[in-house]
Amino acid sequence: MSSKIRQIHTELTRQEYSCTDLIKNKLSELENSPHNSANSILAKTALQKAQEIDQKIQQGKKLDELAGIPFGVKDVYLLQGTYATASADMLKSYKAPYTATAIQKLLDKGAIPIVRENCDSFGHGSSSENTVFGAVKNALDLQTVAGGSSGGSAVNVAKNYTVFSIGGDTGGSIRQPAGFNQVYGLKPTYGRISRFGLMAYASSTDCVGMFTQNLEDTTILLNAMSGKDFRDQTSVDSPKISEVSTWKTKPSNFTVGFYRNFIENEALDASIKADFINLIEKLQNQGINVQALDFYDAQTLVATYYIVAMAETASNLARLDGINYGERSDESVLKDGYALTRSQNFTQETKRRIVSGNQVLSQGHSEEIYLQAQNLRNNIMAHFANDFEQVNVILSPVAPNHPPKIGENLKNPLAMYLSDAYTVGFSLGKLPTLTAPFGTDIGVQITTAKNQEETAFQFAQFLETL
Ligand code: GLN
Repeated sequence: MSSKIRQIHTELTRQEYSCTDLIKNKLSELENSPHNSANSILAKTALQKAQEIDQKIQQGKKLDELAGIPFGVKDVYLLQGTYATASADMLKSYKAPYTATAIQKLLDKGAIPIVRENCDSFGHGSSSENTVFGAVKNALDLQTVAGGSSGGSAVNVAKNYTVFSIGGDTGGSIRQPAGFNQVYGLKPTYGRISRFGLMAYASSTDCVGMFTQNLEDTTILLNAMSGKDFRDQTSVDSPKISEVSTWKTKPSNFTVGFYRNFIENEALDASIKADFINLIEKLQNQGINVQALDFYDAQTLVATYYIVAMAETASNLARLDGINYGERSDESVLKDGYALTRSQNFTQETKRRIVSGNQVLSQGHSEEIYLQAQNLRNNIMAHFANDFEQVNVILSPVAPNHPPKIGENLKNPLAMYLSDAYTVGFSLGKLPTLTAPFGTDIGVQITTAKNQEETAFQFAQFLETL
């Protein structure tokens, strides 16, 4: 499928319709949607921006291809002057005082944010049910979850309410909802896009990424948002990615790896497993080398990730104490005020993570738990480095299961954590991973070594032809 961004750009500049009409349509679709994907709709500013674009078009000014393109923003990004709630009571009346770097780069090119998107509170979750705005409903089935935490963003792209949406991925929050709603979702290499202005969940794995309907758009956006930012010490410059095209001739030494234990995992749904094995066989029939690899088991990956993520989120959320940001529950004793503010305004799931995070960092436990997890993380990274000496890409399922019915996840948090088994390892490794919406009915993940996004895109184009 070819670029929607470019298609709309051409139609706008040929004046087949106005940007104002385009934006009005999208706003009304969002307003009438039953999917609960929007926390706030930015009608006023979006229409103003659309008018400016229309004027420029009438004056014959040359516009960037992103100019006038409507997009969505997960409700964990700062966008100056808009409510930035993180889907939490704590920030329900908090207005962003500045704009995240990644979003600013899109604004500079004229793209138009039209909606702040519903998600799991502070990114805590895998279903977009941990939100004070009510669960997001899957694009393909209103009874099932959208996935998470960036569920609203995935749904908006799948339903065509936005041309693209900017999500955040700490342990799978772009890749899993992309699979659950059948769109492309990219978690780039850690550091490729600045995190400045993204509310921190786990700073050492948080990545800015995007949902799109095609890889050309993913490429355009990745190039537009990447780059070193002096406000984010972990950001780096990376070379531009050229236009994606499928291989003209198949590279002779290309090797696809997959993790044997991911496929043998008892928790893996039978139909996803059958589709995945079928895909591997198709690759082999095409003469592609396929190599089975060994990896850490699901329990180890999930435990390592959640120890790191909970420790980091407990530290990051310490700043939300009712003094500097958001809601405040007043008490005559200051210390009680902190406690009341935090107990009343965080969700149950967020509190579970803060308590667990502080536990694993506490004296007497940190050596046994937190430092162990750090060691394991180093080993996992070394394992990846070794694997990528043997293979060009690693292919894996996105999740062990189809999207559950709304309400099911909430009954069993541990089961929800375990359902992240296939995404969290790549996050610990800081590797780029793309969800492509085919292969199985919840898509497949294509992972490469750091900074090799282009290889993942080319391979995805090839897979699509199978
Ligand atoms: N589901 C994972 C978690 O809850 C990942 C979330 C994310 O990437 N923000 O931590």
